Amino acid sequence: MDLSPDEFARAAHRLADWIATYLRDVGEYDVLPDVKPGAIRAQLPKAPPAAPESLDDIIADLDRVIVPGATHWNHPGFLAYFANTASVPGILGEMVTAALNLNGMLWRTSPVATELEQVVTDWLRQLFGMGDRWFGMITDTASVSTMYALAAARERDPALGIRQRGMAGRAELPRLRIYCSEHAHSSVDKAAMTLGLGLENVVHVASDSDFRMRPEMLTRAIQADRAQGFRALAVVATAGTTGMTSVDPIGDIAAICQRESLWLHVDGAYGGSAMAVPEMRALFDGIERADSFVVNPHKWLFTPMDCSVLFTRQPKVLRRAFSLVPEYLTTSEGEDALNYMDYGLQLGRRFRALKLWMVIRAFGADGIAERIRHHCQLARTFADWVQAEHNGWTVRAPVPFSTVCFRHVPEGETDEGEIASHNAAIMDRVNKSGDIFISHTKLGDQYVLRVAIGNLRTSQATLERAWALLRAAAC
Ligand SMILES: *Cc1c(COP(=O)(O)O)cnc(C)c1O
Repeated sequence: MDLSPDEFARAAHRLADWIATYLRDVGEYDVLPDVKPGAIRAQLPKAPPAAPESLDDIIADLDRVIVPGATHWNHPGFLAYFANTASVPGILGEMVTAALNLNGMLWRTSPVATELEQVVTDWLRQLFGMGDRWFGMITDTASVSTMYALAAARERDPALGIRQRGMAGRAELPRLRIYCSEHAHSSVDKAAMTLGLGLENVVHVASDSDFRMRPEMLTRAIQADRAQGFRALAVVATAGTTGMTSVDPIGDIAAICQRESLWLHVDGAYGGSAMAVPEMRALFDGIERADSFVVNPHKWLFTPMDCSVLFTRQPKVLRRAFSLVPEYLTTSEGEDALNYMDYGLQLGRRFRALKLWMVIRAFGADGIAERIRHHCQLARTFADWVQAEHNGWTVRAPVPFSTVCFRHVPEGETDEGEIASHNAAIMDRVNKSGDIFISHTKLGDQYVLRVAIGNLRTSQATLERAWALLRAAAC
């Protein structure tokens, strides 16, 4: 027997209070826990308990071991990587998802899981001002969404016969090539590894001084490959690169893809959420000509981990890449019912649509746009401070969204190695404060610091604190 509903209610009320307190006070924790590798494991019993433990004891351990070992992504001072938010409606959605425990593999295995996913991805499409020819599906991460998109690209020409015959031992099969910018996310390379295309067949096209893919270099790379008998398959354009949030010229790239019959996938894992802001949509011009597009609501759309949305205008091709129905999963609904298991690798599917639905309803389209707009304003304010400071501080990349790349160069210093260690030391000092967590990247050979704003608790006061710590650390 499970624990009783009464026991659930008692523990859940306690946990609801616990979560509310955590969310209220999260800014008072150190963003990064003060733990050494292995220290958390050392605090926990090596073996599972033989006898049942009380929920009270288990909940007490949240404060004793769990929270002290956590990096607080919900902390206002979390400015590293891409900051995110587990918003209140999203957390509530996760609770209900766990309770219902639906498995949305087939329409029939829970009609609401499938239909709410259709509705909520269509809402998102409208929120982004996209046309109505897109099919949406929720996955766990952008890495998986991009892998699915490239699997579909590989399946588009059935003559390649890869679904049936595989790729190994086929002398007649040309090398299949994927193109992305040198600043594309490593998930493109990992998809190529996974799909058997091979890392060597991901062509990293050069970018311009603003870190955007150069379309003429893309054309040249495709032509050079064709001349060698290679088969160009797909281009991945990035709208908001992970390092510096640059946006590839999607329209120009779409024109090349159209001319060369290539699949165009747009990776907007982070930046895509900015399409919720009407005046920012111009950055994404050309998106309507893409074949697929990924955005992560778990990054910058206030939805708890994990939730990635893959849009495609070619659902039939995606389906061909993944549909395989054994006898025990056949159903009688026919074409009226969508079975999401046909569009990806997973059979079992979490009911992720619920939390996204609750987030969109609780904030509304205007509220979402206003929050994203505010983050972009904060980033511009921070960039202005850095740029106005003069004594060695500079912004190193354009700031189209909510992320700022910058660094400090001591007077007279020209050695990139020295500059890198100096900035790494600044970052270490700032991160040790407990108030702020920032990360770094490289722009070409330049080591730069990154402030990425994406948490709903981050305010101008947070950034003032960050900037004060940074300046002090540079002395
Ligand atoms: C974060 C990121 C990814 C990977 O996202 P996951 O959901 O963690 O797999 C892919 N592309 C870009 C541009 C990203 O910023």
